Amino acid sequence: MGERVGFVGLGNMGRPMAQRLLERGYELAVCDVRPEAVEPFRGRARICGSAAEVARWAPVVFGSLPTPDAVRAVVAGPGGLAEAEGLDVYVDLSTAGSRTARAVAETLRARGAGMLDAPVSGGVSGAERGTLAVMVAGPPDLVARCRPYLETFGRVFVVGEEPGQAQIVKLANNLLSGAALALTSEVMVLGVKAGVDPARMLEAINAGTGRNSATADKFPRQVLPRRFQAGFKTALMYKDLSLCLAEAEAAGVPMWLGSAVHQFWRYVVARGGGDEDFSAVVRYVEEWAGVQVAGAAAAESV
Ligand code: NAD
Repeated sequence: MGERVGFVGLGNMGRPMAQRLLERGYELAVCDVRPEAVEPFRGRARICGSAAEVARWAPVVFGSLPTPDAVRAVVAGPGGLAEAEGLDVYVDLSTAGSRTARAVAETLRARGAGMLDAPVSGGVSGAERGTLAVMVAGPPDLVARCRPYLETFGRVFVVGEEPGQAQIVKLANNLLSGAALALTSEVMVLGVKAGVDPARMLEAINAGTGRNSATADKFPRQVLPRRFQAGFKTALMYKDLSLCLAEAEAAGVPMWLGSAVHQFWRYVVARGGGDEDFSAVVRYVEEWAGVQVAGAAAAESV
């Protein structure tokens, strides 16, 4: 039978990643603060009441948690990983910023356990298919030990040896992704207002130099069919942009354009859109302009 692994946080990303570990034959223990999140694992995995219980059973534990506070609670809070004897390594797949990654690594190191900073990109569909970009920073021996698990989730990119460095890469990625979605929303609304068919417009841009993750993926799959089910909440995108700007501020790096992108997403959250899917931000530009970016996407772009 397979080795024991644990997983804490079975949300949009954690659920499919934990499922892939099961499919690979690993024995799994899981926990989540939402009782309904563990239900799909009943009968297939050990259901635990706390992260500490997971870590008492499995020497390697993964976390996919929404915020820096949730990561710190799972590691150092009551019933947290740091209470468990026997934990070898915690692999944090969350986007929580470099300060949290370093703090968590330090807490665990004091308990004799290792930590890998391993945020991911590629969305829910990438998590389901095992095609995520897994950005990893940590000691080379831990990276080597955990590589087989990480390759279950996607392609592994080792970006450094210090926990926190992978967070920087992930936050940079999400600033680019958030910028692409915001700016694509503006230009697509402009095109529709000028009477252009949005599917034809995307086809042309995707053959040109403006192609990006929003024109190639989110607009054809989520926006044109008005599906809005990419599986990433606007509040979490806003959290990532805020973390990225805080990293830049601390490092003394300018963020002229990053600040504008942050402001765009902040407006959407302030309007009450935090719980919406992030692909729905186009609605706020549509509302201003009085048009909708809708239609059947060209088959080759879906
Ligand atoms: P989510 O909100 O869907 O899932 C988070 C899960 O963690 C929830 O099930 C929640 O109940 C659980 N949780 C919260 N606090 C907990 C605690 N103290 N103990 C145990 N469980 C707890 O979020 P998500 O979209 O799955 O994202 C998870 C992380 O991955 C975030 O850091 C996010 O930024 C990042 N991420 C998300 C995506 C995406 O497309 N959704 C892509 C890449 C990275």
